[in-house]
Amino acid sequence: MATFVPEPYRIKMVEPIRMTTRGEREAAIAQADYNMFRLRSDDVFIDTLSDSGTGAMSQRQWSALLLGDEAYAGSRSYYHLLDTARDIFNYDYIQPVHQGRAAEKVLFPTFLSKGSFAISNLFFDTTRAHVELAGARCLEACNPEASDSSLRAPFKGNMDIERMEKLIDEHGADNIGMVVMTITNNSAGGQPVSLQNMREVHAICKKYDILLNIDAARFAENAMFVKMREPSCKDMSIKEITRAFFDCADTFTMSAKKDAIVNMGGIIGVKDGDAPFILKIKANCICFEGFYTYGGLNGRDLECLAVGLEEGMDEDWLRSRIGVMNYIGDRLDEYGIPYQSPAGGHGIFLDAKKFYPHIPYYEFPGQTLAIELYKECGLRACDIGSYMMGNDPDTGEQLHSINEFTRLAIPRRVYTQSHYDMVIEAINTTWQQREQVKHGYRITWEPPILRHFQASLAPVK
Ligand SMILES: *Cc1c(COP(=O)(O)O)cnc(C)c1O
Repeated sequence: MATFVPEPYRIKMVEPIRMTTRGEREAAIAQADYNMFRLRSDDVFIDTLSDSGTGAMSQRQWSALLLGDEAYAGSRSYYHLLDTARDIFNYDYIQPVHQGRAAEKVLFPTFLSKGSFAISNLFFDTTRAHVELAGARCLEACNPEASDSSLRAPFKGNMDIERMEKLIDEHGADNIGMVVMTITNNSAGGQPVSLQNMREVHAICKKYDILLNIDAARFAENAMFVKMREPSCKDMSIKEITRAFFDCADTFTMSAKKDAIVNMGGIIGVKDGDAPFILKIKANCICFEGFYTYGGLNGRDLECLAVGLEEGMDEDWLRSRIGVMNYIGDRLDEYGIPYQSPAGGHGIFLDAKKFYPHIPYYEFPGQTLAIELYKECGLRACDIGSYMMGNDPDTGEQLHSINEFTRLAIPRRVYTQSHYDMVIEAINTTWQQREQVKHGYRITWEPPILRHFQASLAPVK
């Protein structure tokens, strides 16, 4: 029997949400050209489009908001964030930015240019875009276990070390601008990376003198998985595990909208305070984000972020957070519904290829399932598959993703067990009716980059 871990908090303020009829939803999704990002949130009942910036702040964060110092330079709130982040990550230089992609935009051009490459255990969509905007190209070396959704392995998010070294050999170490270790591995289903794997990647980067950057959006969920699954780490605190990971890298880029539970914010970290490229980071930040002591954020945002970083690492919180995913996963197991298993840290990734084996990747099974779920119960999920990957920047050809997932990204501290139960029943109904869905979708219009956010689609036939 699936059990639900009780949340270590209670509700103090509520936000009404509205259920719609199936007819209303069919009209709304057609109006949005079958693009989940173009739906109005008022037409959504349970919103799992993203866990980014959608969490609920705590009473401590809301009180911190009033303490924000809005000074243009040298704000007290900046120093609060600096002290907190330095203490957690043990990095000398901490640069606030407005979100994760801003961190990428500011940092990546320092190491990547035309003719160079970045290697990752899988790139998140905006991360891929910023590698390409810098003129470089993406190479991926994900643990092959991640492509088998029914294989229950503890660290499906790991880097494939052998493939990583092969890619370095093939393209030449001098042409690899950076290695990006994404923890947890979002595109693989929020799957964790082990400390041992992180250390192996570190050793290879040292050997070839390649910069190692952590894409750290879900560092705390990853640390919790490591504590639960990596025997040598079971007695370490979340902070000790976090330090051990960050000790391996040179820099990190972080979307603070995930594990730091703020609605907006991001961080760049540099371990070595004397690194010459810090000047470049400051210069880019001043141009694109704002002066380096606020980085495009309000003073109050910096305060909330400092508090959220600590709250996001609380063990009881992380146990209940991962407990939600396990609960949904266990219930789906009871129905025999395929998803990336074991469940990841921030969401459930339904295996759309197994729902609709007859729908080819270029008709986007993951997007098709997301649309069916929305029509069924007003749930908003999204495609993490070929639709999201887009086209090869050189040939313009549709990329073929190793997985076709429909992702339910669960906002932090927002929904209750009864919401999840409703969603599980709707997923089961959609699973029972899977053979009635004969075709997928085609794109009728798309922009050149990050097309999934804006594209228009239409049903095939
Ligand atoms: C969300 C995310 C980003 C980008 O962060 P934003 O705050 O959305 O700009 C980068 N990498 C990963 C792994 C993410 O999950």
